[in-house]
Amino acid sequence: MTKEEKSARIARKIHELVEEAHRLADKIEKAQEGRRMTKWMGKPPTQCDFCHDPITDHFVDARLKTGSWGCVCPRCHSNYGVGIGTGRGQTYERKDGEFVKTGG
Ligand SMILES: [Zn+2]
Repeated sequence: MTKEEKSARIARKIHELVEEAHRLADKIEKAQEGRRMTKWMGKPPTQCDFCHDPITDHFVDARLKTGSWGCVCPRCHSNYGVGIGTGRGQTYERKDGEFVKTGG
């Protein structure tokens, strides 16, 4: 094998390894994204627990000023909720047919 052939072979190998590293990095990133996304596990709410308006793409699993918890529409949350965060409320948004936590 000439020196040139040897270098070409090494260059190809490096290229393959870099490609492989990129594929792995993509996989890791996707896996981490999956873990970060918390999905709404229960039955998706169809209407606001407070005003009974239909829930389409957004709702808040919220503690209300009345002291009770409910899945409410964003409007009721801003009127009657006590805020966003642990013990207060979590916002969910529909993504690909599932509700995914977007805040709180
Ligand atoms: Zn409402």
